[in-house]
Amino acid sequence: MEKDLIRIGDIEKFSLVDFPSKIAAVVFMQGCPWRCPFCYNQSLQNPNGESDASWEHLIHLLEHRKGMIDAVVFSGGEPLMQNNLPQAMDAVAAMGFEIGLHTGGYNPEMLQKVLDKVIWVGFDIKAPFDDEHYKRATGGIGEVAKIRKSLEMLIKSGKHFECRTTCDPRLLEIADIYKIADELSALGVKEYYLQKYRPVPEDKTTTESECEKFLHDAELTAYLKSKFPIFATRH
Ligand code: SF4
Repeated sequence: MEKDLIRIGDIEKFSLVDFPSKIAAVVFMQGCPWRCPFCYNQSLQNPNGESDASWEHLIHLLEHRKGMIDAVVFSGGEPLMQNNLPQAMDAVAAMGFEIGLHTGGYNPEMLQKVLDKVIWVGFDIKAPFDDEHYKRATGGIGEVAKIRKSLEMLIKSGKHFECRTTCDPRLLEIADIYKIADELSALGVKEYYLQKYRPVPEDKTTTESECEKFLHDAELTAYLKSKFPIFATRH
């Protein structure tokens, strides 16, 4: 087994919330091309960031978790940034674990390579699908064409997946959520979640009521329920 097959920033040994209906370990892969202003994993952004976790450590841990967890979720950072992701997923699947993926859809070519390996995908939608807005929500980098391509590929694959949006009031208005809902629904997305933004340490001005306003807007949530067979808010 290659010692450093993928770069890992951290490992959550046991999670009930990162893969629907499964007990999972979560691998936080080191490196993300984006710089979302609401990022709570800033230490994972630098692809060469320091970490105590390693591929070798993960495999050792999984050897001792057989029969105790069902699945391993590759999260980030952005897992699609690392070229050895397919090999890493194959190795973990060969140990008997189901594979999940958290992604923003940054790299459709890599998504294509791993799609047949994954059982479930959590797909982050940062903003309505226009370049200016998406770039603002990803620190000036996200390209809508690539993200749409990834999402369309995922929909076509027939895999179980969800889309979710973190409602940062510094970046999104209520009207933007209507736009996102219309876009996703038109593409065929069936499962959507609104996630509450929790102010990052450098955000000293956003209030609790601003963070809550999306999730407590009765008209908006009724609209989202009408658009998606599965919709919920996450506080
Ligand atoms: S996609 Fe955004 S929120 Fe996720 S790790 Fe990268 S910078 Fe952070």
